[in-house]
Amino acid sequence: YVQTSRDVLASNSANIPPKVLEFMDKAAAQADRAGKIIRRLRQLYERGESEMVLTDLNALVKESLGLAVLGASEKGVKVSLDLATDLPQVAIDRIQIQQVIFNLARNAIEALEKCERRELSISTVRTPEAIEVAVEDTGPGLPEEIAQTLFDPFHTTKATGMGLGLSICRSIVESHGGRIVATSRSGEGTRFVFTLPLDTQEQSIDA
Ligand code: ADP
Repeated sequence: YVQTSRDVLASNSANIPPKVLEFMDKAAAQADRAGKIIRRLRQLYERGESEMVLTDLNALVKESLGLAVLGASEKGVKVSLDLATDLPQVAIDRIQIQQVIFNLARNAIEALEKCERRELSISTVRTPEAIEVAVEDTGPGLPEEIAQTLFDPFHTTKATGMGLGLSICRSIVESHGGRIVATSRSGEGTRFVFTLPLDTQEQSIDA
């Protein structure tokens, strides 16, 4: 309605101060953004029960990246994978974990856009209790003003960002019993690592 009112005003009167039209454009854009946030939250919470399936995490990483890195090589981003060969299958909600990998990789690619050196690496390793997935970039590092609140919702440094990606990642990882942490060095890059605990009873039969 705001957008239509703006268009009607603009086309029927020559005397509308340009600032008024600009503010109406901004109001419309913010209403749109609020709508997107609500839709995104609803999608997340309406999913209800998680569907836990024994999964080959390396295969899932490759699947998720296929989508996330679309267009990355045109932007000069070099993507490398270092996947452990000794991973047991792990019980996860595939769609949710795909979303985590996708969000982390998209954030990294976006961060790299402003940098000379554009490298994204994804690795998996097995520890005694968990599988660790790391998504690392050679971007600018985390902005200081956001470092303390990184995983809280609605904290963003992007003009059109929703600040929901990392908070959704944390909810998903924690609902799997894992943890997600970020380390970053200004001007040198950022590394996100999340863990997915192994059910050592069941999954000690690796073969
Ligand atoms: P959004 O992408 O909508 O801003 P996120 O929760 O995914 O929301 O990210 C929050 C903020 O964290 C981003 O706005 C950005 O400032 C910062 N950030 C996330 N990932 C990276 C990264 N790999 N490098 C630098 N900054 C990052």
